[in-house]
Amino acid sequence: MKSWSARPVPELPGTAPTPSVYDSRQQRMVQLPSGPEASLYVCGITPYDATHMGHAATYVAFDLLHRAWNDAAQHVTYVQNVTDVDDPLLERAEATGIDWRDLAEEQTELFRTDMSALNVVPPAHYVGATESVEGIVPAVERLIERGLAYRVPGGVDENGVEQPDGDVYFDINAAAQLKETDPDAWVVGDVCGLSREEMLPLFAERGGDPEREGKHDVLDPLLWRVNRPGEPEWDGASLGAGRPGWHIECSLISLKYLPTPFTVQGGGSDLAFPHHDMGAGHSYALSGKPMAEHFVHTSMVGLEGEKMSKSKGNLVLVSKLREQGEDPAAIRLAILANHYRTDWFWTDELLSDSKRRLASWREAAAKPETAGADDLLKAVRAALAEDLNAPAALVAVDAWAARNKGGAAARGSAASAEDRQLAVDLIESRLGVVL
Ligand SMILES: [Zn+2]
Repeated sequence: MKSWSARPVPELPGTAPTPSVYDSRQQRMVQLPSGPEASLYVCGITPYDATHMGHAATYVAFDLLHRAWNDAAQHVTYVQNVTDVDDPLLERAEATGIDWRDLAEEQTELFRTDMSALNVVPPAHYVGATESVEGIVPAVERLIERGLAYRVPGGVDENGVEQPDGDVYFDINAAAQLKETDPDAWVVGDVCGLSREEMLPLFAERGGDPEREGKHDVLDPLLWRVNRPGEPEWDGASLGAGRPGWHIECSLISLKYLPTPFTVQGGGSDLAFPHHDMGAGHSYALSGKPMAEHFVHTSMVGLEGEKMSKSKGNLVLVSKLREQGEDPAAIRLAILANHYRTDWFWTDELLSDSKRRLASWREAAAKPETAGADDLLKAVRAALAEDLNAPAALVAVDAWAARNKGGAAARGSAASAEDRQLAVDLIESRLGVVL
């Protein structure tokens, strides 16, 4: 589907170092590979509550990585999906009386507009789940043939609901046996590093169905849901009409558009399990190779001491802030003031601090000549190379702005128009903030 537009990224002199990031699978800092090609998959939204601050913070964090790679002269293939058919979307559509397709299209468009406003560099491939069903069906058929997936018989479930025959589940224990012949093979928990006891409640909380009868293991994830009356359906060939599960969608899209393994799988920390773990399992089972070299997860954003979530109804929406006249550059700065791995809270004070900060940067940038851009270039590149440390980069820009706010004497004799242009380009190119 169509992606969004963003400003072209200004080129900077010289080459930045390839960044290091925290790999949450390996639970340590890693130096990312410095080859000419990098590949990134960031899980996209389910389009029914776009774009809350948690989403925005995730896409801005990986935008920093995208920009860091580009400044290190590495070409990036960036893929993002849209889960444009899934239970939460269908439930919201039913609750609001809006056709699910219209809801998905309207919320996806809102997301694109928010991403453009926040100056997030768009993915090369922006792919809907509904565009990927064609590839998912034969993949699930292959998994069944190889004994890595199975059909669950129907019957009346614990809530008295009649379930049809034929939902297909991934057999995590059969998949784990591949480890006997390949030490790189996936086993459940490989990505998240959690124990089975820790995984069980998360699986239920995050879209899994541990209570479904007939599964070989309560943690086995859904690959294909055969049609129920009133639900959207696609031709499933030998699987029967239905719709895909969530994790297989991302596996198929990444296998189609990216190398295996690709460089970084990204997303919010609540995706580590089950989504990224099971997705890695599906990808390994289909390709015989690990899904990604590195897994990077972003922190959660809260409001008034609580996690931001649709169920609590405490979402801060980027579109609402924009409607209220807030400058998207100030919203982006408020996000960047927090390190991507630290959980943080959205507050009015954070936004007003960011507006002040943006005004002071713009005041400095409005001078015809400024000084200190070479030092700023070094400081910003060094900060972002070290685990995308945006807060440290912002402090470096603050120092530059403070120096250049005063008269000519404060700026010193080194001030020039070229120097000013370099600082403005740097701030836009690496931080995505347009002055
Ligand atoms: Zn995903």
